[in-house]
Amino acid sequence: MGELELYAPQLVERARRELARQQAAELVAVGQQAALELIAQGRVSLTMVEPTNFVAARVQAGEWIADCPAPDCQNAEFVSEKDPRRRGVAGSRWLPFLEFVCTVCGARCPIQWPADAEEIIAVLDRRPNPMTRNWWPAGAKLAVLTGTPTGQTVADLLAENAEHGVR
Ligand SMILES: [Zn+2]
Repeated sequence: MGELELYAPQLVERARRELARQQAAELVAVGQQAALELIAQGRVSLTMVEPTNFVAARVQAGEWIADCPAPDCQNAEFVSEKDPRRRGVAGSRWLPFLEFVCTVCGARCPIQWPADAEEIIAVLDRRPNPMTRNWWPAGAKLAVLTGTPTGQTVADLLAENAEHGVR
């Protein structure tokens, strides 16, 4: 006699949600790739494509955040999972969110993370003043406009630390 496998409804629901999430991620990846190809061909300007496809994580005052991509929304959100009482506290445990969700306008999109996010925050966390723990992804418009360095490597950040006597 064959065995009858029974799955709890919660398991089925979880599997269904996971499938939906995977499909959504695939769609976004395809859209993102198409957008990048259009940019490479010079057929679409970056401003047209960038906002709706993904947001890039950045560090402000020692916390990973991202700016809402909606044109009329000025909101920014934390993009890491963390004990809220540990926000801004150096060396706290955190996990990256994969999706940005704006609590003001409801915009949702994937988050682009630097591969070395853990090292970046670890080096920044050595700085005693939390207001100096900042990092921008390469070419971030807001930073470029204000002459702030973007795309700093871990080595760049370590050099900055050394310049200010931070080890
Ligand atoms: Zn928003």
